[in-house]
Amino acid sequence: MTPLADVYVGLGSNLADPVVQVRRALDELDSLPLTRRVAASRLYASRPVGPQDQPDFINAVAHLRTRLSPLALLDQLQALEQRHRRIRQRHWGPRTLDLDLLLYGNETLKLPRLQVPHREMESRAFVLLPLAELAPRLLMPNGRRIADLAETLATTGEVEVLPGNAN
Ligand code: ADP
Ligand code: MG
Repeated sequence: MTPLADVYVGLGSNLADPVVQVRRALDELDSLPLTRRVAASRLYASRPVGPQDQPDFINAVAHLRTRLSPLALLDQLQALEQRHRRIRQRHWGPRTLDLDLLLYGNETLKLPRLQVPHREMESRAFVLLPLAELAPRLLMPNGRRIADLAETLATTGEVEVLPGNAN
């Protein structure tokens, strides 16, 4: 059996009601097989890039413990994305829920379907700020500290904590 791994998953949605979407997905992550959710960040809002006549993006990060292998977990995350997409597709189009596998233990994976750490995570405030909230002392496989990475992006003001939420 695959050993227990600490995993961080990034969630994002820009549905018309993305808060509901992300909250529901946080619950669903706790129901995946061989997996439990040990923590979730607060919700964060970031302004959309490009046209402003669309809702803010809502982001969060979940800390999971799982015995699923990296690819089995990716399968589960993609199935969950599909379920959200199918329900919403009629009304809101395809980008309703994005689930990114940010970190899987201390592993570095460069598979065709899966690169871990997630290739964009070091430059995205909407990933690093919620991740630093959960795990400031965590190190990337390359040795960089999450809190240090987050600090360099925290002052850009692109991302803010959504008021009045605690998971
Ligand atoms: P985005 O890059 O904006 O998140 P998508 O969610 O549509 O876009 O991209 C998903 C694709 O990225 C999938 O085909 C998946 O196999 C691949 N992928 C590679 N690494 C990862 C990862 N760490 N987490 C999630 N998907 C990944
Ligand atoms: Mg994705």
